[in-house]
Amino acid sequence: MTVMRKPVVAGNWKMYKCGDEAAMLAEAVARGASPLSPSVDTVICPPFPALVRVAGVLRSGSVALGAQNMHWENEGAYTGEVAPPMLVDAGCRYVILGHSERRTCFHETDQIVNRKTHAAMAAGLVPIVCVGETLEERETGKTRKVIETQVAGSLKGIGTDLSGIIVAYEPVWAIGTGLTATPEQAQEVHAFIRICLEKIDNRAAAQKTRILYGGSVKPANAGDLFRQPDIDGGLIGGAALDAETFLAVVKAAVV
Ligand code: PEP
Repeated sequence: MTVMRKPVVAGNWKMYKCGDEAAMLAEAVARGASPLSPSVDTVICPPFPALVRVAGVLRSGSVALGAQNMHWENEGAYTGEVAPPMLVDAGCRYVILGHSERRTCFHETDQIVNRKTHAAMAAGLVPIVCVGETLEERETGKTRKVIETQVAGSLKGIGTDLSGIIVAYEPVWAIGTGLTATPEQAQEVHAFIRICLEKIDNRAAAQKTRILYGGSVKPANAGDLFRQPDIDGGLIGGAALDAETFLAVVKAAVV
């Protein structure tokens, strides 16, 4: 049985764009993505200070708002952190969790990502849970082991809620480097992630879960990646900072 999964293209703006620049970029993306919205879910994830302003621009609903991180508690003495209900209040529907930059620069473990994933779902946010191996891990044949550990650890206890999450496969060596996994390399890992998801929930749920590819996706390579049977769209960094480029990637996800 073939399961139809609506593609998702999410733009991770990282620590770029604020104020008028953020509003203008969001407006241009919303305008271009509107006719594509029946075929592809488009999400943009600006930095925290731009969320409320961008939410105002996205009122028409053709593009959804996401955040790039959050704390797992709903409130408390956690200076500098942002709670899940605060993201909901700002207009977010999605949140990126466990991005490799968070794992590397801020020491986020699978256990932390797991707490955040549960908290996001409890708040009604769709978590985009990132996993991916380093170059050294790939070159030493550890890709599957690393992915399996990250998927199982980050999604522990999610059980039958699996279809409410999105997984992003982002090989660390391909993020912001200009190096992209070949469509075959990416497909192989995506198919493997689906098997890992089956073990967490069941085959039907794993078939419904959307798995995105991220790592130097651009208009020139997006089509070949998105045509792979287990690749359901992309998590886009650098190419999400320009409306025309990002929209070309979004168009490439239309089946
Ligand atoms: C990312 O930051 O999630 C990402 C995939 O970045 P880039 O597209 O720039 O490689």
